[in-house]
Amino acid sequence: MSPLQESAFEFARRLPPSPAPAADAREKQRLLREAWKACADFGLFTMAVPRELGGDGFSNVEILDVLEGLGEGCSNDGLLFAIGAHLWAVIQPIARFGTPAQCERYLPSLTSGEWIGAHAKTESENDSAAPSTRFVEAGDGYTIDGLKMFVTNAPAADLFIVFATRDPSLGPNGASAFLVEAADSGITTGRDEPKLGLDASMLSSVALRDVTVARGRLLGKVDGGKDIFACAMSWERLFILAPLLGAMKRQTLRAVEYARQRRVNGRPIGKLQMVSSRIADMYVRYITVRALLRENALLRDSEELSSARVSAAKLMLAESGMLQHLDALRLHGGYGYMTEAGIESELRGAIGGLIYSGTAEAQRVMIAHELGL
Ligand SMILES: Cc1cc2nc3c(=O)[nH]c(=O)nc-3n(C[C@H](O)[C@H](O)[C@H](O)COP(=O)(O)OP(=O)(O)OC[C@H]3O[C@@H](n4cnc5c(N)ncnc54)[C@H](O)[C@@H]3O)c2cc1C
Repeated sequence: MSPLQESAFEFARRLPPSPAPAADAREKQRLLREAWKACADFGLFTMAVPRELGGDGFSNVEILDVLEGLGEGCSNDGLLFAIGAHLWAVIQPIARFGTPAQCERYLPSLTSGEWIGAHAKTESENDSAAPSTRFVEAGDGYTIDGLKMFVTNAPAADLFIVFATRDPSLGPNGASAFLVEAADSGITTGRDEPKLGLDASMLSSVALRDVTVARGRLLGKVDGGKDIFACAMSWERLFILAPLLGAMKRQTLRAVEYARQRRVNGRPIGKLQMVSSRIADMYVRYITVRALLRENALLRDSEELSSARVSAAKLMLAESGMLQHLDALRLHGGYGYMTEAGIESELRGAIGGLIYSGTAEAQRVMIAHELGL
């Protein structure tokens, strides 16, 4: 383990455990805010911000080390996911596309742990040929109307990056991105949606009714939302699942330990080849995905990373992470199925990786497209 990974691992061990699936929304929000402050003090929110904007400007390999350490040290997958949405889909697009005034207004609050960010792109009528959230020019600004769905962090968020179009016939590539504050008039969030996993994270719809913002709230250019979204996804698809890598390692080490101790018919189950072979597969899965992610981080550091490779790693990590938790659960027998074992909640969370930041199918479509199909 590198010193960075080690310090992230030690820090993550002190983060709060995952709340119960049906935890009260106010309590979840309180826990999120508390953890946000701790993560900011640790330096998590500045690690990927360029030095000229007051960040630490870590390399992609260093960022990966930190994220793997976090995932190994902390099984609160929902918290790590919520942090990922804030880091990759909010802080990064602002740091890369924000005007000096926007960076000055938003980055200090987002990196100090004071503000929580959310990225509002998905719509209920996800007809990509005609996004339904609209904006019109209004005096010296813009008025936005529409409804967004499945927005991570929304119930707790202070700032939203909202995608809207001035003309649905422009299609998804014609959207624009806006910085909308929770305190702006006309924006409301729905209830924290009950969901399969990632229990500490909050997610809801976001309704915008005549939300009027000044011109300075446009992020990037008019009709330039695709660049903002591409920037967010290039970070998010590379890193949002990276803590799962640490969890895969943790599950492998734990499986070895359990297989040595658990005896059936007088023998440790680790002596049974069907058990040891499962653990060998877990190890292979972990080191294979780790190698792929590290290669991507290195390629990104030298600016040679293709989007097909990003999609490939996101896809592999999502599918392998889910299988790893399923294997861990099966290896622990009946106990593995019990909540007390702490495996089922991470298995539920890992399934989300097949959907968010673009489904597994969407990653395959993008890979095939880049291959010329
Ligand atoms: C935990 C979680 C957190 C999320 N957080 C956010 C967030 O913060 N912000 C945000 O904007 N969104 C968020 N989302 C939404 C997420 O990005 C979308 O759910 C996801 O991109 C899929 O879009 P959809 O739900 O509209 O599915 P659909 O596009 O309706 O897809 C339905 C099915 O059709 C398949 N499909 C669709 N198109 C194709 C194709 N061309 N080829 C093959 N198969 C296809 C899909 O793979 C899927 O199996 C989140 C979702 C989850 C589960």
